[in-house]
Amino acid sequence: MENAKSRAHSLLRGQSINTLLILSFVIVALLPVSILGINSYYAAWENAWREVREKHQTLAENLSAPIAQYVNNRRIAISLLREEMMALEDVADSTQNAVVLAKGLDYLHGFRAVFLLDDHQRILSMATSYPIGERSAVQLNLGPEDFINTLFDSGRTFLSPVVINPFTGKTTLMMGTLLNGAGAMKSPLLLVGELKIDAIEALRQGIHFGDQGHAAIVDPLGRVIAHPNPDWANERIKDLSHLPIVQKMMAGKTGVTEFYSPFKKAEMVAGYTSVPKVGWGIMVPQPKAEIEAQIARIRGSELAWTLAGIALALAFSLSLARWITRPLNTLARAGQRLNDTNFKSELPKISPRAPLEIRQLADSLGGTVDELITSRAELARLNDSLQERVHIATRELRKSNQQLEHLVQSDHLTQLANRRHFEQVLASLDGRRQDDSQGVCILLLDVDKFKTINDHYGHAAGDEVLIQIAGILRQGLRNTDLAARYAGDEFVVLLRAGLETGRQRARDLRDAIDAHHFQFDGQTLHTTVSIGLAYCHSINGCSDPDELLHQVDVAMYEAKRQGRNRVVEVEQGHPWA
Ligand code: GH3
Ligand code: MG
Repeated sequence: MENAKSRAHSLLRGQSINTLLILSFVIVALLPVSILGINSYYAAWENAWREVREKHQTLAENLSAPIAQYVNNRRIAISLLREEMMALEDVADSTQNAVVLAKGLDYLHGFRAVFLLDDHQRILSMATSYPIGERSAVQLNLGPEDFINTLFDSGRTFLSPVVINPFTGKTTLMMGTLLNGAGAMKSPLLLVGELKIDAIEALRQGIHFGDQGHAAIVDPLGRVIAHPNPDWANERIKDLSHLPIVQKMMAGKTGVTEFYSPFKKAEMVAGYTSVPKVGWGIMVPQPKAEIEAQIARIRGSELAWTLAGIALALAFSLSLARWITRPLNTLARAGQRLNDTNFKSELPKISPRAPLEIRQLADSLGGTVDELITSRAELARLNDSLQERVHIATRELRKSNQQLEHLVQSDHLTQLANRRHFEQVLASLDGRRQDDSQGVCILLLDVDKFKTINDHYGHAAGDEVLIQIAGILRQGLRNTDLAARYAGDEFVVLLRAGLETGRQRARDLRDAIDAHHFQFDGQTLHTTVSIGLAYCHSINGCSDPDELLHQVDVAMYEAKRQGRNRVVEVEQGHPWA
């Protein structure tokens, strides 16, 4: 059970709504329609059979009443005629009885002929409605003797089985009554009326249905009274007593049966009954094939209706499924397209005839997409502006950093590098000394008698002198050189040069400063510098930076000591230590 359920689930999973809808509609429609169809298909067979059987039986029974009535009327008529005859003085007198018989034939309708017979059924007198021609029969056949005898015993009138009229040679029925006990009567006589068998045939003909449905009437001996085959009905006595259906009627039964008809040469279904008191049998047969065809037609139309119902359900479910899934598919495709085109495509319009929920879905999807597009545009704009701002900020930060670095590295008064930076550069040179093929010179300059400038012209003048000395240093620098303010009135210069060049440039600097006219506040000032010079040509030739600076400082003081405004070199191997 669980297994089947999960199998059904896995079958349904992943199916499109279209398939699911059609499937469920077909199941929902198919089940009741087919159950109804199958049910009524079988019910149709049962009903049709029952109806046919009832109809046949009813027809047979309905025919029975008028026949009984007809026979009864004839009985009354023959009784009336009997009364007339019995009133005669001598019934056997042919002059008397002939008149009564002729009048009886005229007035009592329903007889074709009336006869007066003696006790050997010889004709004494008669009146007929047909010409008797040359025939000169003397005896009338009223049927098998035993049968007639039992009839005589049973009542005042009797009804013969089908017999042949000796005058017409055709089948007929005779109704008789006994005349006895009259005044001059020596032996009993028989008064006989010949029935109009055509009247019964007319009643029989009233019943016809389908193609070959008909009625047939037999007498109590199973002989045909009325039948659609004229040969059986008129020309000769046709005995059907061997047929089971006839035997049933002869036994006074009523019902429906099936039998093989030698006349139609087919299996028949027939309703049958027997006429009470008369003993005749009435059957209403119809070929079984005809009934089956009729039922098949009903079943065919049942089947057609069932199929039409299924087709209708299918058509309905198809169009309903399309109605629902079409806008859904459109939305799904549009969603995919939006995804593929990065929200550059548009959502399609959903038909106003689409289901309400799908229209609501489309509307909210449209709203969401619009919001998303707006948000994405806003996001892109913010992103751009953020990038721009980050860019600007970075640029400014870099600039600030550069400024900061410059500030950190430079001397605020002269804008030369400061001592810290100079020492860093010098320390970093440490590893590169070997590459320096020419060697490195360091000059330490100290302004001579600077204090007197300050004292004489003021601190601002001193500052100006320092600034202008820085300018002179800067002018004489090459790319690879570095000049820095070392302390108050001290400057330091790093040169990538051999000793000779260094010596020359130190002298040039001293000369340039000595020759310079320092302008301050409309006054011309003069000053000189004392320079210490140290030279390193290889790593082994120099001490560490601190030691080097110390040495050059010593050299500079040596220049002071020697009288200022001069260059004094540090000699290798600590000359002044
Ligand atoms: P010497 O020839 O021996 O060097 O004599 P000096 O007067 O120059 O003596 P010293 O180098 O020791 O004096 C330096 C003076 O420089 C001391 C200080 O007042 C002055 N000074 C230091 N820094 C500044 C500055 O930034 N501006 C000015 N105007 N004066 C400074
Ligand atoms: Mg000084």
